[in-house]
Amino acid sequence: MAILTNLADDALIALDNLTDRAASLVNPTIRLGVTGLSRAGKTVFISSLVHNLLNGGRLPLFEPARSGRISRVRLEPQPDDAVPRFQYEEHIRALVSERLWPESTRAISQLRITLDYESASGWGRFWSPGRLSVDIVDYPGEWLLDLPLLGQDFRTFSDNTIALARNGVRHLLSADWLGATALLDPRAPADEAATRRLAETFTLYLRACKSDERSLSTLPPGRFLMPGDLEGSPALTFAPLPNLPDGRAPKGSLWAMMERRYEAYKSHVVKPFFREHFARLDRQIVLIDALQAVNRGTEAVHDLERALGDVMACFRPGSSGLLSSMLTRRIDRVVVAATKADHLHHESHPHLEALTRRLVERAIKRIGLSGAGVEVMALASVRATREATVNQDGTTLPVIVGTPMAGETINGETFDGNRKTAIFPGDLPENPDSLFQGIESNSEERLAPTLNFVRFRPPEMDAPGGELRLSIPHIRLDRALQYLIGDRLA
Ligand code: GDP
Repeated sequence: MAILTNLADDALIALDNLTDRAASLVNPTIRLGVTGLSRAGKTVFISSLVHNLLNGGRLPLFEPARSGRISRVRLEPQPDDAVPRFQYEEHIRALVSERLWPESTRAISQLRITLDYESASGWGRFWSPGRLSVDIVDYPGEWLLDLPLLGQDFRTFSDNTIALARNGVRHLLSADWLGATALLDPRAPADEAATRRLAETFTLYLRACKSDERSLSTLPPGRFLMPGDLEGSPALTFAPLPNLPDGRAPKGSLWAMMERRYEAYKSHVVKPFFREHFARLDRQIVLIDALQAVNRGTEAVHDLERALGDVMACFRPGSSGLLSSMLTRRIDRVVVAATKADHLHHESHPHLEALTRRLVERAIKRIGLSGAGVEVMALASVRATREATVNQDGTTLPVIVGTPMAGETINGETFDGNRKTAIFPGDLPENPDSLFQGIESNSEERLAPTLNFVRFRPPEMDAPGGELRLSIPHIRLDRALQYLIGDRLA
């Protein structure tokens, strides 16, 4: 081991991939990334997936489970000591025992689950035993949106960010920050207090975009909203500046200092994340809360499309010199899934799937990923509702039944978190295009259909017949699982 300590960091990182591969020869391993913007449903997805695997849940679309080839499933210590462990047990306690949603992802975490299985390949009759470890890596989508920064200098980053801030509703939200920027002379000597104030108003702007009533998708720098362990760090004290007319900033100026901090953010925050985590993934699922965006109107839908486009660009090997040169392995399968499908009646699920496809398809085409290794679906990691029909004036309406969370209101009625209710959830249009129209008018008018969207408590999970084993109900979690790891258990 002594010899390793003499190697430069970079070499150690490169070695990581080799070590991963060597280890994988002895114990086959797959690294599965789970990402999505905050509140998209990452924590709930991983918790339910792992719980269903560990407890023999209903997974008919996951072939190895359906055909009874999985003999043993267990959690094992993860290989990366420096990464926090995904708090599976705590999350399950909240979900199952307390019927509360677990605490959401705030930083990167990891969990290893190992499956023993009988291989279906070979001569059929002679099944051979196999073993696969899945390292699930949970990380904020906000961090992923930082990767494009690696190919942008401070000037380009500033131009892009300021141009977008002047657009649509962002125009209103960015007024304070852009106003404060206009009062500063970028050529004046750098002043720490002024820099900090500007970074603060910039962060407030990013936060306002992300707020519940706007639901715009986040812009980089991602750590401004999801700082992880960098909370309060000077690495986060910068803000974009308008470009200097003559192009050069004097030494020691505000502009020069912001540029230096931006570059430091890239090399100390973005690059390490890229190398140590992202570049080592084999498969990826991207979760999106499309229903929330639809509820907030056309601009939020467009914004989600833009963010998703940026995310998808990260998965294309060779998309930029910098990214591809550092990629020694590549992600060969990506699932893009709209979560929380249990908020809709199943008749509307194809519409949610069509919307999701529409959200990614242009990005897929633009970056040349057409047809290759991308699967789109609508799922619910935890099904918090069940379906029913009600008769209203002689017509039968499909409804969903669940327990609204305490404090949720429907038609002026506030719920206590215990009482169940049936609601007609509304529907999405068959052709999702209409959800994207109307942005040109620059108005805040909502053209989207109004969905009846309330937060439900996790479902009751009494084991049927007093059995000890219980499995978390879900929608199409097994389909995602089949695409993400099914082939490795063949
Ligand atoms: P994260 O920030 O991506 O980790 O998001 P979480 O997994 O914490 O999910 C955010 C919230 O979305 C949860 O607190 C739930 O209210 C809701 N949610 C997530 N997944 C589901 C689901 O499958 N069904 C329902 N009904 N709600 C969900």
